[in-house]
Formats: sequence, C-alpha cells, structure tokens
Amino acid sequence: MQGNTLKGKTALVTGSTSGIGLGIARSLAIQGANIVFNGFGDAKEIENLQSSFAKEFSVQTAYHNADMSKPAEIESMMAFIGDKFGGTDVLVNNAGIQHVANIEDFPTDKWDAIIAINLSSAFHTTRLALPTMKAKKWGRIINIASVHGLVGSVQKSAYVAAKHGIIGLTKVTALETAQTPITCNAICPGWVLTPLVQKQVDVRAEIAGISTEDAKRVMLAEKQPSGEFVTPDQLGGLAVFLCSDAASQMRGVSLNVDGGWVAQ
Ligand code: NAD
Repeated sequence: MQGNTLKGKTALVTGSTSGIGLGIARSLAIQGANIVFNGFGDAKEIENLQSSFAKEFSVQTAYHNADMSKPAEIESMMAFIGDKFGGTDVLVNNAGIQHVANIEDFPTDKWDAIIAINLSSAFHTTRLALPTMKAKKWGRIINIASVHGLVGSVQKSAYVAAKHGIIGLTKVTALETAQTPITCNAICPGWVLTPLVQKQVDVRAEIAGISTEDAKRVMLAEKQPSGEFVTPDQLGGLAVFLCSDAASQMRGVSLNVDGGWVAQ
C-alpha cells in the first residue's frame, strides 16, 4: 500500500540492483523515500529502474556504482549522496556475495572479497553516514545479515563469519547511538529465491542430477520448516517497520525472517 511515512527522507540501499535490496528499495519508495541505488548490472536496466521508481512512486532516484569492496569508492558514494540529498536518512547495508567450499579448499581471494563486501562495507557506510544522521537528529541503519549470522552451515565459512560479524557491528552501532534518534538493527533472512540462491540451486541440481524444482524442495526441506521461500517484499515490509516510530526503541536487535529455520 502506498504511503508517505518516509516522504522527504533519502534511503541508500547497497546492492539494490537485484534481489532483496531491490525489494527493500521498492518498499521504502512506496513509503515516499528517495532512493539511491547501488550495485552492479546493465547500465540501461539500472536507468530504467531509476525512472520507473521515480514515475511510479513520485520519488527522486539516483545511482552510484561504488564497488562495496573498495573503501575509496564507498567514500565517493557517500560524498555524492551528501551533495545530492544532504546525506542518507535510511542506510540499508545489503550488498553481499556468497562462495561455497570447505575451509581447506576455500580460495583466499574469495574469503577477502566476502569479508570486504558483506562486512567491512557496512563499517564504512555506517562511519560515513552517522555524522549527518546525528546532525539531522534522525536515522535508521538496517543491516541485512542472515540466519547465517545466528547459526552456521558447512562450506560457508567466510559468509557465516561475515554475517556473525555484522550482527556484532549492529550491536555496537546501536549502543553508540542509544541516546540518539538513530537506531541500528539487523534483519536475518532464511532462504530467499534471488540470483544469489538460484546459483546454489543450480549447482545442487547438477550435482544430484535432479531438476531445479526438486533442488529447491530439497534445500527448503533441509533448513526451512515452512517449506516456502521468504520474499524480498516481506523483508521490505520489515524494513519499513524498522523505520517507523513504533520501532524507535528497537536497538541492536537481530530479527530472523526464516520460515522457522532458527527455531529448530
Ligand atoms: P543478489 O545476488 O540478488 O543481490 C546482490 C546485490 O549486491 C546485487 O545488486 C549486486 O550487484 C550487489 N553487489 C554484489 N557485489 C557488490 C559489490 N562488490 N559492490 C556493490 N554491489 C555489489 O543477492 P541477494 O540474495 O539479494 O542478497 C542480498 C543480501 O541478502 C546479501 O547480503 C545476502 O547475504 C543477504 N541474504 C540473502 C539470502 C538469500 O537467501 N537470498 C538470505 C540471507 C541473507
């Protein structure tokens, strides 16, 4: 439902050209927030995304192509948002990648990339966003962690380490801002069928010699008791709630949206 709870606010959603980030950007735009997109993708498609949001939700949009593994590019992006919008009011740290291998076979460059993109980037955006949020006396920082910030799974050492790390960063950010109108919380999704997970479905289907539909069923049956994928829109709904006044005393919390994964 279209609303105006975030009218006049600006939201940066990192990794918003696809999947969960795009779903969250859409939910925030529906509430009237201006959206700064970030992430990789085809230039024409990203332009279309910007203009379709602007038209559909009557919000301003912008895009910055910062590679979230590169602190200097993150600094340029935050300066760009400062110039264009006077800073970001809502910061959604969402960009992330995955690589699956046993520890002894885990490529060290993949470890470094996952820690940089899934964890360190959130430190950089947060340290650069806080001064303006403090000056404007309002801010919402939402870190997209994962159930893998709460529990482990084999073959995901870097991802699980980064996601546990971002939950730690969430707590410290929340404590350091506890007496301000800025909150920081984490969302911990279970399986969401995005390109990041589709790759894992395809690999499983190929290894087991089964269809992708069967591979999806096996993945869900292993971990997610509901037997259903979480959707980006459901995560967007929670992000909107975390931006509301009702959530202003939620500080440093990790909220799992996981079809029962962590209840087991
Ligand atoms: P996705 O692959 O659909 O989207 C990832 C986004 O991050 C894309 O926009 C991509 O361009 C961007 N990105 C990747 N590397 C980048 C970089 N170096 N610099 C800038 N942008 C970069 O994946 P998704 O499933 O939507 O994942 C989004 C977040 O949600 C990730 O942090 C992921 O760990 C987390 N998550 C996903 C699931 C799931 O089941 N899909 C579950 C829990 C958590």
